[in-house]
Amino acid sequence: MTPRLLRDSDMPPLAKKLAARIADAGPISIHDYLEACLYDSEYGYYRTKAGIGRGGDFITAPEISQVFGELIGLWAGAAWRQMGEPAPVRLVELGPGRGTLMADALRVLKIAPGFLAAATVHLVETSKALRDAQRAALARSPACLSWHDDFKNVPSGPAILIANEFLDCLPVQQFVFDSAAGGWRERMIGLEGDVFRFAAGSVAQTPPGLDAAAATGSEDGAIFEHRPAVGGVIDAFAARSPFAALLIDYGYSRPSFGDTVQAVRGHRFAGLFDAPGESDITAHVDFLGLKQTAADAKMKAFGPMPMGEWLLRLGLEPRAAQLLARASEEDANEMRSGMARLVDPAQMGALFKVLALTNGVSAPPPPF
Ligand code: SAH
Repeated sequence: MTPRLLRDSDMPPLAKKLAARIADAGPISIHDYLEACLYDSEYGYYRTKAGIGRGGDFITAPEISQVFGELIGLWAGAAWRQMGEPAPVRLVELGPGRGTLMADALRVLKIAPGFLAAATVHLVETSKALRDAQRAALARSPACLSWHDDFKNVPSGPAILIANEFLDCLPVQQFVFDSAAGGWRERMIGLEGDVFRFAAGSVAQTPPGLDAAAATGSEDGAIFEHRPAVGGVIDAFAARSPFAALLIDYGYSRPSFGDTVQAVRGHRFAGLFDAPGESDITAHVDFLGLKQTAADAKMKAFGPMPMGEWLLRLGLEPRAAQLLARASEEDANEMRSGMARLVDPAQMGALFKVLALTNGVSAPPPPF
């Protein structure tokens, strides 16, 4: 695909802003490019856009089937009982999207009135447009709701946290192995004339998060990704007790190399440089690294378990049977295909994984 020229009058304003920054100060890392694309205060995708859903850029599990949020609601109720039913308890969601997951979870939690009475709900969201969507989705919920820019601002105390497709948003660094240069070089973005181009940064020792043996035994051109914000997220979790978190995302559970950064716009893959600020850009989550970071912070980790298996073990089939029994034939067909999409290993069931983390809770969270 031919990159667009900076002179194009229809060029996104963020592309102009980034090009000016690179022209002024030199190439920037992929991490800093992604951070600007996603979080620039004026034009960042997760500041300005509400791209989730059929009419948007991408679709997520809670938008595919109500059973997803319902089972997560039941999981939260069970986690609360395992904690000894603390009151108050913070029910936190990181990146709640359109608010669908939380609405489905709170609806099903009517069967656990004690939990609902004890819980205050905290939505951590950067996008103004999505905050509005969440407010609308939760308008009829009796729960006490509040919004925050950062998990660190959620009031202290026992907490149960849910994050579906949140970690994949956090920008990654990429390092490329280059034996001729003598090691790993951070992948950068520079300008060639008027066009964004990949460039190689200075030689680094072992990239953060990569063990020394894998670092020296790599092939030329191998790409290693590291997500610097994860350490801070885990430290903020580890500061709470009792605490239980459910992290659901797409990613890998073995050490892996490769470029997993992908831009999506209007349900199609887009080029990384096509329209900064106008496409959703994510990268696979390194579940093994996440687990290690949690263990280093003295948390207990369970999983990762393939999402399909996790949903089936939590009771997707009996809940599906209840819903299907009440549905019209047309609705039942749609429900069946939605649930199959979540569970089928060839669709979302295996690529997506579930990791649970706890602190100060003795029993393993269901269904581990
Ligand atoms: N969990 C939702 C949405 C996933 S998309 C669902 O499953 O449908 C990612 C969500 O995280 C969006 O709501 C996005 O605006 C939000 N987000 C991305 N980065 C964030 C950050 N650093 N802090 C808070 N919210 C963020």
